[in-house]
Amino acid sequence: MLPEMGWGRPLWAEVDLDALAHNVRLLKARAGGARLMAVVKANAYGHGALGVARALLRAGADALAVVCTEEAAELRRGGIEAPILVMGPTPPEDAPTLVELEAATAVASLEVAQALAQAAARRGRVHPVHIKVDTGLNRFGLPPGEALALAQALRHIPSLRVEGLFTHFAAAEEGDKDLTLAQFREFMAVARQLPWVPVRHVANTATILDMPELALEMARPGLGLYGCYPPGMRGPQGLRPVLSLKARLMRILELAPGQGVSYGHTWRAPRPSRIGLVPCGYADGLPRALSNRGWMLVRGRRVPIVGRVCMDMTMVDLTHVPEARLGDEVVIIGRQGEEEISVDEMASLCDTISYEILCGIGPRVPRVFLQGGAVKGVERMANTWEETPARPEARR
Ligand SMILES: *Cc1c(COP(=O)(O)O)cnc(C)c1O
Repeated sequence: MLPEMGWGRPLWAEVDLDALAHNVRLLKARAGGARLMAVVKANAYGHGALGVARALLRAGADALAVVCTEEAAELRRGGIEAPILVMGPTPPEDAPTLVELEAATAVASLEVAQALAQAAARRGRVHPVHIKVDTGLNRFGLPPGEALALAQALRHIPSLRVEGLFTHFAAAEEGDKDLTLAQFREFMAVARQLPWVPVRHVANTATILDMPELALEMARPGLGLYGCYPPGMRGPQGLRPVLSLKARLMRILELAPGQGVSYGHTWRAPRPSRIGLVPCGYADGLPRALSNRGWMLVRGRRVPIVGRVCMDMTMVDLTHVPEARLGDEVVIIGRQGEEEISVDEMASLCDTISYEILCGIGPRVPRVFLQGGAVKGVERMANTWEETPARPEARR
């Protein structure tokens, strides 16, 4: 698709904006009348935060969610004006920055709420907050009774607006829904006492797919937007994978029987062999656990990874694809011809989940955004360097 050789290192991720838009519409329809807060934390699950955020909003997302102040700042710097919620635990020192960014903030302590209130008052603003209720994930949030008390304490602070109340489920993807329903009941017991809070949101991807009746005013999917199903779930629901990871063959080497490949020679040619060099390694997000286990696609055929995955390069056995040539496209994740390597297949070979594979795709990999088959934009690594960085004003 992309680059002929000469474009730079021939390794790139293609992000299919049509599939992304399809997934937004599908999840939104499934969540009934709920508004959609699209989760774009962790560089949009590795897909490229800015290109993805713009496309999500065009496709009908109503708001965006990230985990930390820095992620909200990146979106604002990129010109995103839509509502943003910072969902994670926030240090109180971030308050002035969050107010400046107009990024709604999850709060689970009076200290953070007061820091936001002061920062907002100083600027003559009213800052939106969402109260996080911990109903059993036992991660971030306040237990129901304390969440209720915090909401009531914040209600009358003029520089704050309690805009939302939310919780996060511990096991929404599991077939047994008892825990999810118990968490939902706990949440609703608090929500019922706060009828003046306008927005309640609890539904991640698994909830939207399996229990859409819990979507309330707003749903909060991440993974499904990117076309993956939560671990263990499968659906007839028709999500479309968004990301492909591709490269080009950079060397083809003939080996005699007995010659070893890559560090430690953990693979030796059992016969005369043709080995292909792929410019993608574990620094790019190809797990080292795929050494001698994983697959790639060349000329529409599966070729096995041989030897250890290195930091920047990996070798594949091309012996049964004699027509393979230098510069051929290699699919690491995605489709080629009739074959496909899904994120889930790769994840299960590595004993992990699709989330970890996706957000592990490294910063050296340019993200190429495609719409209607044409390149719409590219996000590339942008390292910045500050000589003796000033402590941000917010942290003083
Ligand atoms: C990551 C995250 C989500 C999105 O979950 P998915 O399973 O990817 O849909 C929603 N809410 C919170 C609080 C999260 O941290």
